[in-house]
Amino acid sequence: MFLTNHTLVASAIAVSFPEPSLVVPLAFGSHFILDALPHYGLKIGNNRKKHGITGAIDALIAISIAIFFCFLFPQKILLILLASFFAALPDLNQVLWVFTGIKWPKKYWDFHEAIQRYESKKGILIEIIFALILLFLIIR
Ligand SMILES: [Zn+2]
Repeated sequence: MFLTNHTLVASAIAVSFPEPSLVVPLAFGSHFILDALPHYGLKIGNNRKKHGITGAIDALIAISIAIFFCFLFPQKILLILLASFFAALPDLNQVLWVFTGIKWPKKYWDFHEAIQRYESKKGILIEIIFALILLFLIIR
């Protein structure tokens, strides 16, 4: 799933979950739940340049969203930033792959790929609806 939606879920957890000590583990775990849902995927195989461009645009939007929520909820800045970072962390190995071509660590890479089996181009609609619902719920 897009980092944008991982960040939206992390922000929602950060601003609404009553127990701050559980925000980071919940945000981290949410990554794998979201990746298991139907979502957008380019199915462009090993084209690292296309993955890199898409990932960079997505990362910029995700960072912008995290900053936006920091302004909306200044009392929760640290939680929003930590939750967003840990919700995105499981995709860090993809950044390594984009820059080096190395799929490391292999077992984690295979696991991460396996849970994203419902990726498709049509998944963009689900990602957009998901993002709009989350934005509405957080801002409301
Ligand atoms: Zn992921």
